[in-house]
Amino acid sequence: MKDPKAMYALSYGLFVLTARRGEKDSGCIINTGIQVTSQPNRVLITVNKSNFTHDMILETGAFNLSVLTEKADFSLFQRFGFQSGRDVDKFQGFAHATRTENGLLAVTEGTNAWLSCKVVSTMDLGTHTLFVADVVEGDTLSRENSATYAYYQASIKPRPAAPAAEPGKKRWVCTVCGYIYEGETLPVDFICPICKHPASDFEPVAD
Ligand code: FE
Repeated sequence: MKDPKAMYALSYGLFVLTARRGEKDSGCIINTGIQVTSQPNRVLITVNKSNFTHDMILETGAFNLSVLTEKADFSLFQRFGFQSGRDVDKFQGFAHATRTENGLLAVTEGTNAWLSCKVVSTMDLGTHTLFVADVVEGDTLSRENSATYAYYQASIKPRPAAPAAEPGKKRWVCTVCGYIYEGETLPVDFICPICKHPASDFEPVAD
């Protein structure tokens, strides 16, 4: 590509994607959720296969999509986005969820609507699975503006903290969560300790 950053011009929403298998609820953050037809009322999402929620949806064919707003707190992204449902119960100690008619949870804080969806088709995309789903139920929760990924980057994600503690050290910022790495170089196999994204999601901080 002449400029790989051309991809940044695409606009995305942000969602908490939830699923339930057996007695276990989990969820993750996705930015790929769009309505594709109105009759029938269908959406599509793509989910990284490394997400625990991905496997739950593949097996159960059901998910809820809670639409994040500009008022969503960064802690929501930390809770649902920066840890794995394989390791922790993401709903532990979390009071801001409601169980919808399909038996799944929807997030009711920092969100303006939820949709309950039933998978009708899947496509294997390699790293991700694409799910096409019928919207079977839904409700509006608030009139706050839906958050875009650009809004998250500009206004929800913490800004890089003060200049480097040690003068002369270079710094890289995780473009996903805002974590700062300090050092001479950023190792190519570096994994963000907060959100688990790779070195390719870091960019140099201009001090
Ligand atoms: Fe990160």
